[in-house]
Amino acid sequence: MKTFHIGGVHPAENKLSAGSPIKDAQLPKTAVFSMFQHIGAPAVPVVKRGDKVKVGTLLGEAGKGLSVPVFSSVSGTVSKVDAIVDSSGTRRAAVFVDVEGDEWEETIDRSDKLVTMKDLPAMKAEEVVAKIKAAGIVGMGGATFPTGIKLMPPPGTKAEAVIVNAVECEPYLTADHRLMLEKPEQILVGIQLIKHAVNCSKAYIGIENNKPDAIKLLTDLLKEKAAQYPGIEVVPLKVKYPQGGEKQLIDAVIGRQVPAPPALPINVGAIVQNVGTVYAIYEAVTKNKPLVDRIITVTGKSVKQPSNFRARIGTPMQQLIDEAGGLPEDTGKIIGGGPMMGKALMNLEVPVTKGSSGLLIMTQQESRRAEASPCIRCAKCVGACPMGLEPYLLSMLTRHKDWETIEKNDVTSCIECGSCSFTCPSHRPLLDDIRVAKQTVMGIIKARHMESIKK
Ligand code: SF4
Ligand code: SF4
Repeated sequence: MKTFHIGGVHPAENKLSAGSPIKDAQLPKTAVFSMFQHIGAPAVPVVKRGDKVKVGTLLGEAGKGLSVPVFSSVSGTVSKVDAIVDSSGTRRAAVFVDVEGDEWEETIDRSDKLVTMKDLPAMKAEEVVAKIKAAGIVGMGGATFPTGIKLMPPPGTKAEAVIVNAVECEPYLTADHRLMLEKPEQILVGIQLIKHAVNCSKAYIGIENNKPDAIKLLTDLLKEKAAQYPGIEVVPLKVKYPQGGEKQLIDAVIGRQVPAPPALPINVGAIVQNVGTVYAIYEAVTKNKPLVDRIITVTGKSVKQPSNFRARIGTPMQQLIDEAGGLPEDTGKIIGGGPMMGKALMNLEVPVTKGSSGLLIMTQQESRRAEASPCIRCAKCVGACPMGLEPYLLSMLTRHKDWETIEKNDVTSCIECGSCSFTCPSHRPLLDDIRVAKQTVMGIIKARHMESIKK
């Protein structure tokens, strides 16, 4: 069975919510919309206090350059345009809406009826991309890169393979798994739309073989409707973390290696889209629905009802925890995302954003960190690193603040997967050190670039 070739680890899967069908989360009393839910420039608020909005009303238009718009996921009255402290602890411009009823913009088709390519009017590739851009869609696996931009291959490149990232390799998370089980054909239509948008005849859906039901369902559907969905193939993958990393997935599925930055997947002919993003594309193009909700897993060993919710963007995390049975007494840490790449949340009023794939509540025992002891030079971290880096060395250089050597050792290639920390028998905080190093070196590179532009 296929997988990627460099490094990787096998954390316990703990997919506690895999059997929980997607439930609609309740509407919040107040929804909070950060204008910075994506990579690039923040959106710019276009509403003011007292304005009435519906589900689908534009709240913030895309900023200059790389950016996407933000839409209201609720109906009600704008109570303020202010700022919130987001999950990274940074203050961001935000629009607050007091919820009244549940009125939607008339342009959105709210029916559940499947819309296929045959039902749609003929559309040029640029029209599909324009709809995706206008809907504010970003990479929903957590990367939050504007999808419309990713679907415009730069001159000199050609998309040869659309790869759907349905790996969900982070332990605990099951949002993508449930989506495949519950909306399989909508996902196939979404893939057809992406193929059309980038003019590519071949698509692969990469799924780890710990989701045999999703593999079977999609494979059978593709067999049964081969004429309707040509050129799409399900690729079962051996379970290995971090297979959901773009470079690892491309290696696993089509055996191509993406060179070091600034090279992109498209430089080896690949366009990778998370399966949640594919579903959002389906809804945007066939239902005219902007990105106003998403599937999010709320889970943990002490959580009463590990759940998968369809939550409106802007819903406070606290509300989702309440709906999953409340905050367990032995809570030690709450993570936004999964245990490997997620980040501890500063407070529970943080709202669901376009990139929120999960909420993991760890017990006090699980969140206790073992005390770090000196490096024993076992090289396990080197063997685990999927990017071929030397984590022990990067960590040591970070402590000496030797940024120049760290840059030479390719710290910017680190995908922050945490495989090095996971595997270290001395419990060294490798990822913490390397994150600091990566951020510092990227700052230095940016400053150097600005300096060279001035000259
Ligand atoms: S966090 Fe970075 S250095 Fe550590 S294993 Fe992952 S890619 Fe390698
Ligand atoms: S895994 Fe830990 S102990 Fe082993 S070389 Fe890496 S940092 Fe040192």
